[in-house]
Amino acid sequence: MDGQTKPLTRTVNLILLGPPGAGKGTQAEILVETFGFKQLSTGDMLRAAKNSGTEMGNRVAGVMERGELVTDEIVVGLIEEQLATVAASGFIFDGFPRTLAQADALGTLLEKTGQSLDIVIEMQVDDAALVERIVGRAEKARAAGQPVRADDNAETMTSRLAAYHEQTAPLIAYYREKDVLKSVDAMGDIDRIARDLGAIVTDVTDT
Ligand code: ADP
Repeated sequence: MDGQTKPLTRTVNLILLGPPGAGKGTQAEILVETFGFKQLSTGDMLRAAKNSGTEMGNRVAGVMERGELVTDEIVVGLIEEQLATVAASGFIFDGFPRTLAQADALGTLLEKTGQSLDIVIEMQVDDAALVERIVGRAEKARAAGQPVRADDNAETMTSRLAAYHEQTAPLIAYYREKDVLKSVDAMGDIDRIARDLGAIVTDVTDT
């Protein structure tokens, strides 16, 4: 990437869909830098609530540490607040929606605010690599003296992956039917994956 924001010819709202460890956060950051999107990560919002000790944060802490999903009501509320903010290039939804109910709620919220959902990008990865990536992320953080996410360990990963396959993976068919689904091979070089994602975004705005 050249460090320059490339203006889009129109606003694009997109979802990055994929299991924990697929690299959604990493790629969202690159897309933000490249196109000026506003990233909405429900995981980051929930961790911020937990760290600042809000009542909601305290309520969800245990659920997150067990690798389960927090209630649809809480995350939809967080997203609803954010949809009222300005995002000239559009929003990237990272880690949301994670259930069919959340997907329906997002559709309704966007419609209410006169916005559209333009692209859903499925990041395809091998489950076997995911546990390794997450355990590696925890080890790196620990070695650098940085805080380690309470849910970044092999045991919790099993629950997070199960939650993904049971509750989130059905969204792939849901969005395929709505004709907004694209897929990228998310194994391998970060820059190559970023280029593939960037090409999908520019393709959609050019048509
Ligand atoms: P990852 O994608 O690496 O699993 P996230 O940072 O997106 O991590 O989420 C961490 C945890 O926060 C999840 O395991 C879950 O407990 C909670 N969470 C985040 N987003 C949602 C959501 N949309 N619905 C329910 N729970 C969520």
